[in-house]
Amino acid sequence: MPWRNAANYGLSAHPTESVAVKISAIRVYQVNLPLVEGRYSWSEGKYVEVFDSTVVELVTDEGLSGYGEVCPLGPFYLPAYGPGARVGIGELAPTLLGEDPTAIGPLNQLMDRALLGHPYVKSAIDMACWDLLGKVTGKSVCDLMGGRFGDSVALYRAIAQRPADEMADNVAGHRADGYSKFQLKVGGKPEEDVERIRAVAGVLTDGEVLVADANTGWRVDDAMRVVNAVSDVDVYIEQPCRSYEHCLAVRRNTTLPFILDENITDIDALLRGHADGAMDVINLKISKVGGLTKARQIRDLCVSLNIPMTIEDSWGGDIITSAIAHLAHSTPEALRFSATDFNSYVTVHNATGAPARTSGHMSASDEPGLGIVPDMDVLGAAVAEYTH
Ligand code: MG
Repeated sequence: MPWRNAANYGLSAHPTESVAVKISAIRVYQVNLPLVEGRYSWSEGKYVEVFDSTVVELVTDEGLSGYGEVCPLGPFYLPAYGPGARVGIGELAPTLLGEDPTAIGPLNQLMDRALLGHPYVKSAIDMACWDLLGKVTGKSVCDLMGGRFGDSVALYRAIAQRPADEMADNVAGHRADGYSKFQLKVGGKPEEDVERIRAVAGVLTDGEVLVADANTGWRVDDAMRVVNAVSDVDVYIEQPCRSYEHCLAVRRNTTLPFILDENITDIDALLRGHADGAMDVINLKISKVGGLTKARQIRDLCVSLNIPMTIEDSWGGDIITSAIAHLAHSTPEALRFSATDFNSYVTVHNATGAPARTSGHMSASDEPGLGIVPDMDVLGAAVAEYTH
């Protein structure tokens, strides 16, 4: 019997040095995304009509490009704003040039060392790295994140804050588009919010789900008046107050199911909320936690802890909608409370290949990476370009 050579044991007889992919240029684009409905209004009189979105292109030395997007919900929803994303990306750019974008763990550590906090700034960069990793390996981001569960992802529809009867009237159109979960924007005057919840609950049919999202807009006493007045209604209460402690106080004094969103900013916040029994569901937003890498970490922990999630972002166009679809579609269905198709809320499309809603559902692309091709006419000229 001949001696086995080294190749039989998995050692190459002629080892070749693997050459890491490197970031050779970073381009930043700005795109305005007007709202289909004209104005998106939520708590405390806040509204946005045109969303300021930032698209990042990471170019590798081999000529591949990966894309990511970040789109804050105006400058006063989370500590994030459109121009801030672009300034922050410029701050990180010198650190990122020459690095391997497919080594996503080290690259995230590098970003966290180079710039403390500012998770939304890092989100589009991290998203572009996942797009590149998929393109280099020939796999979709959904597959890289563990593989898909089921055929599609069910979506919810946010109903902007308006008088109660108008919000109830808006349900029919969204139902016709296939949505069965509706999230009301409340967080206004308690007596008006009670009317909003009751008016919409009154037009829902069996199997439809209602969420009242106050987006931190209520004081504890406001929130207690609302939850007491609608205690007979089948409705989830989302993020009633600004602070975690105030949300917890409301949570402990109501039997209504409870969602935390703005307070769930990282793993520490999630673990604290879980230990306190502070919520039944969380809202996981990609840019709120710093990108797909950290969102996946939180997603996986929620799967282990059996905490359902709404998987989405603060806002976005086609690139963000695609990223949401990959993260949501690779999440077990039982833990998928909902997801958002932001590209159907806006009139401008920044990429092709993004999920298109079908009967209130969307699916992650099978194509490598995010599966999108940016529309360079819509992106226009780069507002910034960083090279070696
Ligand atoms: Mg919310």
